[in-house]
Amino acid sequence: MPPRTGRRGFSLRRPRSSPSVGLISPGPVRRVVEVLVAVRIGVNGFGTIGKRIADAVARQPDLQLVGVAKTRPSFEARRAVARGYPLYVAGDGRPESFAAAGLPVAGRLADLLGKVDVILDATPEDVGRANRPLYEAAGVRAIFQGGEEADVAEASFCALANFDQGRGRRSLRVVSCNTTGIARAAAVVLRRWGVETWEATLVRRAADPGDAKRGPIDGIVPTFEMPSHHGPDVRTVLPDLAIATTAVVVPTTLMHVHVNHVRLARAPGGAAEVLDAFRASPRFHLFAPWEGVDATPQVMEYARDRSGGKDGPGGDLMENAIWERGLRLDGRDLRFFQAIHQESIVVPENIDAVRAMLGLADGPTSIATTDRALGIPAPR
Ligand code: NAD
Repeated sequence: MPPRTGRRGFSLRRPRSSPSVGLISPGPVRRVVEVLVAVRIGVNGFGTIGKRIADAVARQPDLQLVGVAKTRPSFEARRAVARGYPLYVAGDGRPESFAAAGLPVAGRLADLLGKVDVILDATPEDVGRANRPLYEAAGVRAIFQGGEEADVAEASFCALANFDQGRGRRSLRVVSCNTTGIARAAAVVLRRWGVETWEATLVRRAADPGDAKRGPIDGIVPTFEMPSHHGPDVRTVLPDLAIATTAVVVPTTLMHVHVNHVRLARAPGGAAEVLDAFRASPRFHLFAPWEGVDATPQVMEYARDRSGGKDGPGGDLMENAIWERGLRLDGRDLRFFQAIHQESIVVPENIDAVRAMLGLADGPTSIATTDRALGIPAPR
């Protein structure tokens, strides 16, 4: 299915003062409203995260991608144009440089802000905070990414952990890739057995695959801040979780791996029960021992195979990856590995954040809608 962009015939213009489009009423009324109203979305920053969330917005039944904003012409700007996403010039960018590259632009960021209900900011760390006054002045709701400090927004967000905390907010921050990965797992575990303590060591990728400037390309770099900032960040969405994290950076671009040791409040019946709980939750993918997926290269190869040629998330894995044989239970002591595809795990969370802030759906409905549109398999 090709992505849907630009103005849709059935989109209703709403006065900017309209706080939400109110899709929570059940029955026939809800169905009518869902058909008539698409929430108008802009994406500012079209890099690793921005291009993925723009694609994800364009695939949702109730959202309309109005345009994307970029500072400079690049292969990614050309991709936006090729996909039919109206392109706007952001920051200190100059329309002439886009014109010189043969890339048509529809205006500046301010023009885009005048046409949307919600802006998804996917600019680099700290740029989102600098952009916040622009969004406030334009009267649009804003969703920021995990590179920003928590106080950039009214609340931090992870769909499985605290969907309802997003309701009615004018701004939200989708927590980082590592934080999202841990918060999802903790949400599943907390609900069933409670958690006394959670310790995690994060083995972090050095750079994204498209990043030619970061390293290390050899060596392992410990993070001497102990505990690392990730634990407090998880508590921005799960405030009562007793979690402490440490981290190292390693020379890989594919994924992060988390080594978790959880002291549960109540003992599960066995490791199989814990695996079943992850299997039954959205946004987890379990690898059985017979699949021969023993390391992150094979996890990502699986993701590329899964998307193979279809109009889906190209080579992305938006779920937490769990190895069945990488989970062990001793009484109340649970140890497990999980791998996190840093480039894509926060993509569905951005979509759910929009629905949460506008009250478009409850958490499970939003998650199922997002995942269906993105081709993320439903839990078994
Ligand atoms: P990126 O560098 O890949 O993309 C950022 C884009 O924003 C680039 O295209 C850049 O040219 C553009 N940009 C720079 N200044 C701008 C401005 N003033 N206005 C508009 N666009 C501007 O960065 P990214 O990896 O996509 O990260 C974006 C955010 O997402 C950060 O907060 C980051 O911490 C967070 N995040 C990144 C990852 C990851 O692994 N890459 C994972 C989760 C969250």
